[in-house]
Formats: sequence, structure tokens, C-alpha cells
Amino acid sequence: MECLLPDGFKTESGMVYDKVKIGEITGRQQNYLMDIKSLQSGLNHVDKLLEELIQGFYTQDGNQYQGSIKSALNRISVSDIETVLVRIRENTFGNIYFLKGKCTHCDTLNDMKLDLSSLEVTRTSNEDKDKIVELTLPKSGKKAQLKLMGLDALHKSWKIFQKSQSELLTATASLALKSLDGKNDPTSEDLKSLPILDIKYINDEYAKLGGKIDTIVTHECKECGKDFDTRLNVVDPNFFSLT
Ligand SMILES: [Zn+2]
Repeated sequence: MECLLPDGFKTESGMVYDKVKIGEITGRQQNYLMDIKSLQSGLNHVDKLLEELIQGFYTQDGNQYQGSIKSALNRISVSDIETVLVRIRENTFGNIYFLKGKCTHCDTLNDMKLDLSSLEVTRTSNEDKDKIVELTLPKSGKKAQLKLMGLDALHKSWKIFQKSQSELLTATASLALKSLDGKNDPTSEDLKSLPILDIKYINDEYAKLGGKIDTIVTHECKECGKDFDTRLNVVDPNFFSLT
């Protein structure tokens, strides 16, 4: 199966690789997925699925990226990763996915049926692919540069989410920054003295950056008739089981 990535990556020579060919989950990966459900071993299954099931990165003209899959994986965005995971599921079990979602108005658990191929994908233009976004923070006046989060940031944010809820805000915002006040790769610690409005501004501006796959599913509750949203969790190992 071929799929287009929301972002992809641009090499030094200006080639844009934003198309991948992917395979499907076989017994080998399935065994691994069964194992980790009991081990709770973070997001290592995401790396494994991407490394084993992406068969190649291509330009729109069909030129194949000559570097290793692993090196390409370090250059793509979180939106790209989410898109590939959705397509792996689609290519393995088909485009229909059944999930349960709790209504936010009346708490009723609803059975939902989703067509994965209909999730909206927004893609960045080629000119915007390696554009550096410069911000001037509204409160402190400090300069900051945003960067697209990739595989490494995905692992870090998962760990932050599991361990230190107290640092969630500063740690997540730090992952979105290429530099802060002239310092490259700022840490959560560097953000602790920033005004809260500056941190919020970083997160809001980051949300506008790069391509997206819309994983928020809106459903009409069978009980109260109101619409509610559920986010599809594509990094959950259970996303790759037959439903
Ligand atoms: Zn309801």
C-alpha cells in the first residue's frame, strides 16, 4: 500500500520524500504486540512497526530514498507517524474500525464504526517543509524557534505523561522548541521561569505547525442524541488488534 505523509522530509539536496510504501502486520509483529500488552513497555512497538513495515520512502516522482529506513524515521513528524500507523492498520484489517467512546454529556458508552480511509489528512506545501518558525513570546519578549516533533519527541512525551504529570506543561512545550532565547534544544527546566502565557503561546503556535491527520472522531450519542468527540489512540498496541 502506498500512502502520502502530511509532512515527509526534505534532504539537503532539496528532494522531498513524502510518500511511503507499507506492508501489513504478520504473525511476527502480532506476537510482539501481544507480548507488550502485558509488559507495558512504552512505545517501542511503534518503532518496531515502522521499521519493519515501511518498505521505502519516495518522492512524488517515485524516486526512492537511499538512506536507511531508520535514518528516515528520525526525520519525519509525529503526524507522519500517526498517518503510517493508521495505514498499517488499514492495510492489515481493512478500513473499517470499531471502537468504543464515552459520551461527554451523559457518560453512556457508545459503539462506533469508523472508516479509517476517511480521516482527513492536511499536508504541508513543499516550501513550508523545512521552514523555521520564529516566535517572539508575548510576555517575556524572548525569541523562540519551533520545530516539528518526531519519533524521539513522541517517546519523550509518552514518558513525561506516564511519570511526571507536574512537569507536563513545560516538558511538552520544550519538545516543540528548537531554541529558546538563543539556547538550542531547551529543556523543561529552561521553561520553568517563563510566564505561563508564553508557554501557552508556544503550544498554540505549535498546533498550527506542519501537516495533520485528524484523529478526532465526532459521534452522535445513542442515548442523549448529542455529539461528542473521541480521540483515536493510534499508538496504543490495541489499535492493531482485530475489532
Ligand atoms: Zn450522551
